[in-house]
Amino acid sequence: MREDTKATQSKNAMQSKNALQARGVSRTGTAPQTRGASQTRATSQARAVQQSADAEEKIRSQKAPASPVGRQGESRPPENTYGRKKKKTAPSEDVIVLDHVVKSYSTGAPALNGISLKVKRGEFVFIVGDSGSGKSTLIKLLLRELLPTEGGITVNGTNVVRLRRRKIPKFRRGIGVVFQDFRLLKDRNVYDNVAFAQLIIQAKARDIRKNVPMMLSLVGLAGKYKAKPKQLSGGEQQRVALARALVNNPPILLADEPTGNLDPKNSWEIMKLLEEINEKGTTVLVVTHNREIVNAMKKRVITMKKGVIVSDEEQGAYIDED
Ligand code: ADP
Ligand code: MG
Repeated sequence: MREDTKATQSKNAMQSKNALQARGVSRTGTAPQTRGASQTRATSQARAVQQSADAEEKIRSQKAPASPVGRQGESRPPENTYGRKKKKTAPSEDVIVLDHVVKSYSTGAPALNGISLKVKRGEFVFIVGDSGSGKSTLIKLLLRELLPTEGGITVNGTNVVRLRRRKIPKFRRGIGVVFQDFRLLKDRNVYDNVAFAQLIIQAKARDIRKNVPMMLSLVGLAGKYKAKPKQLSGGEQQRVALARALVNNPPILLADEPTGNLDPKNSWEIMKLLEEINEKGTTVLVVTHNREIVNAMKKRVITMKKGVIVSDEEQGAYIDED
């Protein structure tokens, strides 16, 4: 079974290689293309997958009929089929900590120039700021795709700066990620795109058969499991990406301009989904330019400008930079 899964994973990863590279997915992976290719890519996809639990359950309760899997959520029947227990942690725990972080690329001014910030478990945080202000660099640092030039970073209790390379894949399982361009596997259908994330963590076949439909129900796509990405609208594709990001149940979800390619209606639907996921306990960090949504949702808003945080407000609003 396990061998089968591994073989499938490896095959999947290989097959996906071109598609992933074409979409720049490898950049979400750790790793230089030369190294442990299939595993690395698989890992980056898996990372993209993680989270579901809280969200699922909640969304499922709204949109989906019966689902076999229970969530580890507070009041739910705790029947997590994929075994990963949600850490019982104090609500005040900081799950993301940046301490005077500087990130310089080889050219130009530092992309981040002294960022300190803390995010508590269960928070919902918007990160806004002009193009080039360092938002994506921040996300990459949190994923350990990049190392800071200076400063400390802790995510999910892990000191990211000291993290050994071989431990990166496991670390990334604690973080679900979605991007503006969805980064789905073009040649795979919806079901397989989500299942891919489970294969990467070597989930059991029977768990995959439960978790994937559950996640698709969660995001309202149960009826489209056979569709290929190009047959879906942008909003639907982002829902698949979200299902993939959540299916492994990570405690943190990072979204880098998740509505950047979506129309207002779909943007709202995705943001509402993110909010629901957050309400179920997942810590959510959303980079966005969507002024209207930021202003309406009344969440914490961190505003960046030229690599520094210029504002950090509870129930904040989009600040005009002019
Ligand atoms: P944002 O996501 O807010 O638009 P980024 O984090 O992508 O900003 O970029 C911040 C700054 O770092 C920009 O000036 C950008 O040009 C620069 N930058 C980003 N990635 C690289 C890179 N790989 N090499 C050199 N400079 C980069
Ligand atoms: Mg960016």
